[in-house]
Amino acid sequence: MRTTQVAIIGAGPSGLLLSQLLSRAGIDSIVLERQSREHVQGRIRAGLLEWGTVELLNEAGVGAAWCTMALILRLPAGITGST
Ligand SMILES: Cc1cc2nc3c(=O)[nH]c(=O)nc-3n(C[C@H](O)[C@H](O)[C@H](O)COP(=O)(O)OP(=O)(O)OC[C@H]3O[C@@H](n4cnc5c(N)ncnc54)[C@H](O)[C@@H]3O)c2cc1C
Repeated sequence: MRTTQVAIIGAGPSGLLLSQLLSRAGIDSIVLERQSREHVQGRIRAGLLEWGTVELLNEAGVGAAWCTMALILRLPAGITGST
């Protein structure tokens, strides 16, 4: 039986990113997901990412994979995208 320090419920963006950040900090975790791997990998959860999210993904070491597929939009000066 496997033991772990942290159990994360749900392999959505929050759970997977948390697991990755914990791993980089040397903390073992397991992600428990009720759907199949195919279901999770096949669904699209975000077509548009805010820049803060992009920076966080880069810090987590998972930026390279999506960067090859991404179209980076730059807003005109004065428009930040925040509300
Ligand atoms: C159609 C659509 C388009 C979107 N487009 C964008 C976008 O362009 N940009 C953007 O930033 N955001 C977008 N979003 C929002 C984004 O998908 C959510 O903010 C994000 O998925 C939330 O992540 P999460 O990990 O918190 O939750 P979720 O993605 O909902 O993941 C939760 C996971 O936990 C699992 N789970 C739940 N309960 C249990 C349980 N009891 N046991 C085991 N597993 C469980 C679920 O099966 C699921 O896989 C979109 C959402 C939808 C639906």
